[in-house]
Amino acid sequence: MLKHIVFLGLILMGCQAADPKPEKVKIVCTTGMIGDALANVVDTTVQVVSLMGPGTDPHLFKPTKSSLDHLSSADIIVANGLHLEGRMQDILEKIGRTKPVIFLGEGIEEQFLLYGDEAKQIPDPHLWFDVELWVNGLDYVVEALNKESISTPGYASYKDDLNNLDTWVGEEISGVSEENRVLLTAHDAFAYFGEAYGIEVIGLQGISTVAEYGIRDVTNMVDLIEAQGIKAVFVESSISSRSIEAVVAGAQKRNIDVSIGGTLYSDALGPRGSGAESYIGMVQHNVNTIVNALR
Ligand SMILES: [Zn+2]
Repeated sequence: MLKHIVFLGLILMGCQAADPKPEKVKIVCTTGMIGDALANVVDTTVQVVSLMGPGTDPHLFKPTKSSLDHLSSADIIVANGLHLEGRMQDILEKIGRTKPVIFLGEGIEEQFLLYGDEAKQIPDPHLWFDVELWVNGLDYVVEALNKESISTPGYASYKDDLNNLDTWVGEEISGVSEENRVLLTAHDAFAYFGEAYGIEVIGLQGISTVAEYGIRDVTNMVDLIEAQGIKAVFVESSISSRSIEAVVAGAQKRNIDVSIGGTLYSDALGPRGSGAESYIGMVQHNVNTIVNALR
C-alpha cells in the first residue's frame, strides 16, 4: 500500500515538473478595439487575442480556420454584438452554450442606442466612437469578467484615460465652426460620434456594409455637398475608397470644390506604426484628421 502511495506521489510530482507554469486564461475578442481595451486592464495571467486585424471589415468578416481554432481554445469570448459581427452571430451563439460569450453591446441601456432604421429594428453597433458610451460597455464587460474570476487591475487607470479622451474629443470638435461640422463618410459608422460631440454625420452606405451603394446615393451626396458647402469627405480604412472617390469625382464634374479629408479608422484599428494601433490612438487620429480637414 505504502509503495502505491509513493508511486502516485512521484507521478504527481512528475506532472508538476513537466508543466511548471499554469496555463494562461485565454480571452478571445472579435474586434481590435475590444482586444486593446482588455489588454490594458487584465494581468499577466491572461492572454488576449483579437480576431479582426487592421483593415478588417467586421460586417463582412467570416472566421478563418485559425479564428475558429482560437474560438475553440478560448476560455472566454468577448464580442461587440448588436449584429456588428454579422457573419459570426450564429457561431458566437452556438459557442455561448458551452463557454461564456460576453456581448459588450448588452451593457448599453436601450435609451442610449441609436437605430439604422425608422422601425428601430436594427441597432447601430458602432458604439466605440462615443467614448463615454464605450466606457459603459467596458464597465459591463469588466464586471462580467470579474464574475468569471478574471481580475482587471488596470481598468481604473484605463478608464481615467478614456474619460480624458472623451473630454478632449468634445473640445476639439467644438473648435470647428458649427456650419463646417458635417462628417461625410463611406458608411454610417459615426452616428454615436455625431450624437455625442455635436457633428452632423452622413454615410454613403448604411450602418452595415453588406448593402451596396448605388449611383443614386452618389448623386444625392453630391447634391448635399453642394447645398451644404461641405469642404471635405472622408475615406474609411476598412472599406474600399471607391465610393468616396466616386462622390469627389461627381462633385468635380459639377465644379464643386470638395476634397478627401483623409482616412478614418472606422471599424478596425490601424496597422502597427500608424498611430491608430490602439483604441485611444484611433480616436485621436480620427479627430485630428476631421478637425484639420473641416477647420
Ligand atoms: Zn461599420
